[in-house]
Formats: sequence, C-alpha cells, structure tokens
Amino acid sequence: MGQRPRFDRALLVLAVAGSLVVAQEVPPAEAPPAPPAAVADAKPQVKWLGQWSEVLRQARAEKRPLLVLFHGDGDEDADAAAAKLWHEEKLVEKSRAFLCVLASASKHDELEDEAGARHCKRWGAGICVDHQQALPAAAGELIGGAEPLLPQLVICTGEGRVLARRAFALKEPELLKLMDQALRVVGVPGGAGPADPKADAARTAEALADAKKARSGRKTETLKPALELGGEAARAALLDYARKGDDDATRVAVIEALAARGDYLVLEALQKLAKEKQEIIALAAIDALGTLRLPEAKDELKKALAGFTGNDQGRVLRALAACGPADASVHELLVKKVKGTDQNIRAHALIAMSSMKPTPDLEALLKKAIFDRLTVARACAIYAAGKGRYEACREELAKQAAGETHVDLKELAGTALAHLDHEKDDPKCCDLDASLSNFVQLGDSRR
Ligand SMILES: [Zn+2]
Ligand SMILES: [Zn+2]
Repeated sequence: MGQRPRFDRALLVLAVAGSLVVAQEVPPAEAPPAPPAAVADAKPQVKWLGQWSEVLRQARAEKRPLLVLFHGDGDEDADAAAAKLWHEEKLVEKSRAFLCVLASASKHDELEDEAGARHCKRWGAGICVDHQQALPAAAGELIGGAEPLLPQLVICTGEGRVLARRAFALKEPELLKLMDQALRVVGVPGGAGPADPKADAARTAEALADAKKARSGRKTETLKPALELGGEAARAALLDYARKGDDDATRVAVIEALAARGDYLVLEALQKLAKEKQEIIALAAIDALGTLRLPEAKDELKKALAGFTGNDQGRVLRALAACGPADASVHELLVKKVKGTDQNIRAHALIAMSSMKPTPDLEALLKKAIFDRLTVARACAIYAAGKGRYEACREELAKQAAGETHVDLKELAGTALAHLDHEKDDPKCCDLDASLSNFVQLGDSRR
C-alpha cells in the first residue's frame, strides 16, 4: 500500500482501560436480550459497515473511497460523536459518497428490528462483532498493525492510498472539509473527475510565490488556497518548500500552516524538520509538532531538548507536554523544571502544565506558583490553571482575581476563572493566550 504512513508504535490514550480486548465471536444466544420491538431511529444514519475485507473488495470494485472511523467509547467527545455528530444531516449526506467503516472494540446493547435483524444500539448499523473485528483488521491494513490512537479518522482508497489521517475528535466543519478534499482528489464516481496533480502543484507554487511577497503577518493567509486543495501534490509541494525553500520566513509560515491537530500525514516530515541545523526552522517544526499533539513525536522532542537553552528550550518543553499529557517521564521533567532556578525555563514549564492531565502533585505545584514571588511565574501559573482546567486551583485563582495588586495579573486571574467556568467548546472563549502575551513571548522572538 503506497501512501501508508509507517509507524512502529502508536499509543492508545483515549480508550477506556480494557476496552481493547480482542473481539470474540459472540454467539447469538449469549447476546443481551433484545427489546421486543426495536424502534427505528429517526435520526439521519451513516451506513456503517464492519466487514473489513468485504468492504475493501467493494471499494476497489466500485472505485469508492473508504472512510474509516477508529473509535473507543468512554469520554465525552466519543459519546457525542456516536450520539450526535455522526447523525448530522450534512455529514450523513456527504458520507454516502464513501464506504464507511466503523472500527470499535466496544460492545454495546443490540436491538432487533421487525425483520429480526440485530443492530448495534449505539451506532445503529450492523452488530457489534462487526465493528469489533474491523478494528484490528483495518488498523493492521492502514496504520501498520499498531493499536491506533482513538478516536482516529482515515480516508483512503481501496488500494490503500491514504488521503487523510487524523487523530482526536474532529468537529463537523473539519470533517466535511476533509471529505470534500478527498472526493476532489480521487474524483466522484459519475461526477467530477480526479484532480490533476500537476495543476495542484502549480496552484501551490503560485500560493508560495504570493506568500514570499506578503509581509510576515499575512503569509499564512496567502497560503490558504494551497492548503484548501488537500491531496498529495499540494502537500508535497508545501513540504518541499518547508525543507529547502529560499525564504526562511515563508518556510516558517508553511510549517505553521501545515500543522493541524492529530494530522499524521505531516508528522514524519515535521519530525525531520525538527532536526534542521537552522534553529528558526527547527523550532517552527517543534512548535508544529506541539500543535499536532501526537505521542509519536515525544522521542524526537526529548532529543531536541538538549539542543536548546532558555526560551527556545522552553518551547520544546511546551511541545513535549502537548504530545505527552499523561506521560510519566514528561510529567517528571516538568516538575523538575518548575522547581528549578532558571526563571525562563520555569515560566515555560508552568505554561506547559496547561497541556498536562491534572494530577494532585501538579495541582499542588500550581497552587503554590499562583502566589510565586515573581510576576511572570504567577502569570504563567494562573494561565495554566485556567487553560488546563485545573478545577482544584479555583480558590487560588479567585483569591488572585480579587486581591492581586498587579492589574494585568488580576485581570488574567479573572479570565482564567471564566475559562474554567465555560463549556469546552464555547465559541466565545476568553482569549487566555492573548492575555498571557502581556507577560511572556510564546513564539519566536527573532521573527
Ligand atoms: Zn456496537
Ligand atoms: Zn475561554
């Protein structure tokens, strides 16, 4: 399979413990008793398929792309995906152009319809054994046999040409965009033909030339037409420029623009760029790896730490935390840096705690740092407590929001509290990052 990304080891972080048991064939007699008459779900329904080899054959025969959803039950986003997101009308409608495969190790209740056929109650199609067996089969074929980071979406052709591979929960507009891009690239049966890679490469070259001419703050915007194309030709042209383009500021803008949360298709290239001799490029790639948040980047980032000092090492530390929010060695390293004497590194380590999974010792560390004698450390701790949703620090934040004498800090504490209070997806989210920039420079000071 040509375009398959090669990774030896993927980590499972979002699945509930024990949910990845190897699927067992469950004889019908042992299934949970079905209610007398199943109610047909009125919500729009993706036609989820589960028999991997059969679906693969069908995709090749019908030249239809596959949409594979690797999924694990257990957290809020996962529940919302099954109950709401994948029933959205536009998404269901768009899904008809694909053969959709659900790959989930979870077991659910099953319902029986009037004709006596059983259906997984959670996903509405097929029986649970199908989606359970699809997980190892599809993971083996598409992501090298590893246990996939869940949730994860792969869009590919029946021949295994991977068009999109994204970990973490995606929102509807992002999903629709990825699906549209894939359909544009491979063509819709009976509709628009596949995109011409040469034309895509030419449009990308044009966007790159425009970006080179644009002033620094406008470069990313100028690259948009190339990014919107999706597909291998545009991505390859952009990555090529990131590697050896003739304008460093544009190379940095390309690296920034390519970084999307969970995007496996740029992971390997960014890991290589993180080793560039030119620091401005290496650090842009390191920041980008932090945006990807993929655990596979941890080792590369750990190695990169030694190559930088001060503010730059702080950036590596923040990227590392983003890729290993529950990693014990990252946790230990951050604690050490927060307790250290290099104030610059301390500030970044405190900010990095906003990516970590709150634990009692990190909470205790933040509670103390919120009252640090240094203003910058106080600011970073307040930011991290709000941004990282450290509920246990609420009292300390309230104290600073009421009593802090430094006006900007007092305001920051109020914003951090507001951020703790609102829903995770609130579009009116308080811009904590902007408030923190009064105290520390998060990006590259040389630009
Ligand atoms: Zn099920
Ligand atoms: Zn907010």
